[in-house]
Amino acid sequence: MATTMTRAQVQNFDFNEMDCGPEETTFRLFAPATAKKVVVRIYKEGIGGKPLKTVVMKATPLGAGQEGAIWTAVVKGNLLGRFYTFDTGHGETPGVFAKAVGVNGQRAAIVNMVNSFPDDWCCDQHPVIKSPADLVVYELHHRDFSIARPDAKYPGKFLALTEPWAIEHLKQLGVNAVHILPSYDYGSVDETRLNEPQYNWGYDPVNYNVPEGSYSTDPYDPLCRIREFKQMVQALHKAGIAVILDVVYNHTYDIDHSNFQRTFPDYYYRKEIVNGKLSNSKYSNGSGCGNETASEKPMMRRFMIESVKYWFNEYRIDGFRFDLMGCHDIETMNEIRKAVDQIDPSIFIYGEGWSAGQCALPTEQLGVKANISQMPGIAAFSDEMRDALRGPFSDDNIPGWLGIGSTTTDNKEELSSLKESIKFGIVGAINHPQIDMSKVNYSKTPWANEPTQMMAYVSCHDDMCLVDRLMASVIDKGNHTSQFSNLNSQLKEELIRLNLLAQTAVFTSQGVPFMLSGEELLRNKKGVHNSFESPDSINHLDWDNLQRYPQVFKYYQDLIALRQHHPAFRLGDADLVRKHLEFLPSPACTVAFRLKNYAGRDDWRDIIVILNASREAQKVSIPKGMYTVVCQDGEINEQSTSKIFGRTVSVNPQSALIIHN
Ligand code: CA
Repeated sequence: MATTMTRAQVQNFDFNEMDCGPEETTFRLFAPATAKKVVVRIYKEGIGGKPLKTVVMKATPLGAGQEGAIWTAVVKGNLLGRFYTFDTGHGETPGVFAKAVGVNGQRAAIVNMVNSFPDDWCCDQHPVIKSPADLVVYELHHRDFSIARPDAKYPGKFLALTEPWAIEHLKQLGVNAVHILPSYDYGSVDETRLNEPQYNWGYDPVNYNVPEGSYSTDPYDPLCRIREFKQMVQALHKAGIAVILDVVYNHTYDIDHSNFQRTFPDYYYRKEIVNGKLSNSKYSNGSGCGNETASEKPMMRRFMIESVKYWFNEYRIDGFRFDLMGCHDIETMNEIRKAVDQIDPSIFIYGEGWSAGQCALPTEQLGVKANISQMPGIAAFSDEMRDALRGPFSDDNIPGWLGIGSTTTDNKEELSSLKESIKFGIVGAINHPQIDMSKVNYSKTPWANEPTQMMAYVSCHDDMCLVDRLMASVIDKGNHTSQFSNLNSQLKEELIRLNLLAQTAVFTSQGVPFMLSGEELLRNKKGVHNSFESPDSINHLDWDNLQRYPQVFKYYQDLIALRQHHPAFRLGDADLVRKHLEFLPSPACTVAFRLKNYAGRDDWRDIIVILNASREAQKVSIPKGMYTVVCQDGEINEQSTSKIFGRTVSVNPQSALIIHN
């Protein structure tokens, strides 16, 4: 064996920490060269009991100028079915890249991955989605989605998404990508107590490369969670639905107990910069969760690249949503894009283009929204459009443009000015001659090169869901005691109108549309703003709402279908958007635009979309002609034969009008 690893070997390091063969198993760990002793312990069980064996590992230093060493040990015998931990002197850890674990992810497991393949896994195929513009992303938490579904066989589990009712619902709605909230092994749910209701979003990673045990039917069996995760992917793929994984490489639950820290203290984290100097003791906290990882370090960068590749290769994941992407450096994100392009360029990558605190890297190096133009093939969420529609993230009670018609709104002029930010969201955050960037809320320059670099949305798991936000800021402003179910029918109707109007902006945007699971069921979280550990009673989807508010589901369904049937809404190219999308002059409480001249080779020559947030009908001038009305007053009918003729149209209160000729 070489005495040091070459630079190329380091650059290709694949974090393969365990190779099991019938006669021997090789263990490898990237750990400090200076560690006094590194051992691997072999166990019979995933939890409890004494080690069967403790084996001392040997170091191969990395090349000159590189931190750390690769520690290896070869253990004789067939170890299949055993568990193991590493110990570099900082407590036991399954390593940083365990691929199978026992309960609560404390020990890594030695399994044969072939035994995790569901039937016909080899025939699994990624859904064909030609352009990210064609995606309709549905953001879902496993437990929210299925825990209260009366006919669910596997409530709260990965397997719920294999059940006919679930697949049918998603297909009926028309979404073609499910973005699953953290589904890697996280720490905040105790997998040994699954008979008790426990809830967490899961933004507290433990083992990045293993599915979460509490979503499996048996967290003690290392193969179970792996197999059931794959069954889920397989069932969604069969239905033509892509699976997008929420990846949280930017922080770990804590530092002291994390696998990173136990394996290689301080390597994976950034420290604060104090007076221009790197602090020895203070960890930087750009994640707002107490720490931030150091993507710019060679092995952290490799870790992220290898992890993304692994989820693609082993689990056939179709896309990745990077939590707090603004904590990662641009170079790493571009390296990830490059690595996935070599496997499958259709893998979609997007992230939160911000951090949750000050990072210990200069902003110009970070994957923030303002730097998206330097990250081709990577998209970010548009808070411009989101907050212009619903109101600022900093105060749940302040309305956005949607509240312009409400009698409780006293700042109508300010709300009128948000129109420009909605227009910015409609074009997909690109440069467009009709957008006055000086009037856009958060960004003063367009940040996307292509419209597919912008995620269009009005709500996600963070902050209030749409119903609650409209309650707090418009419908029931200042009256926090009331809940949606207590509203009188008139107010309920108004809320529904605004809800549908908001999503019409999202789904007619040239960005990539994204919705929170349950919005189609008029979900509410009883006003809870940060429900990351709230009980099921707050977070669960109320499936009875399908019957209570069928018009809501119907509108979402028809709206998604309208987008999918008409390429004009998803041009996917900045030049085409500039060529075909033209805003029409209209009052401030309205946004009006035309997709003209068979945009995207659409069947319809010109499509006019007018959003009216006012409580009064609004008149808007349009190019003279005979038009067919396909969306009016909260109803969509693509086959409609209802015609209007003339130079002006009247748009009903708090609703969208879509016409074509
Ligand atoms: Ca776990």
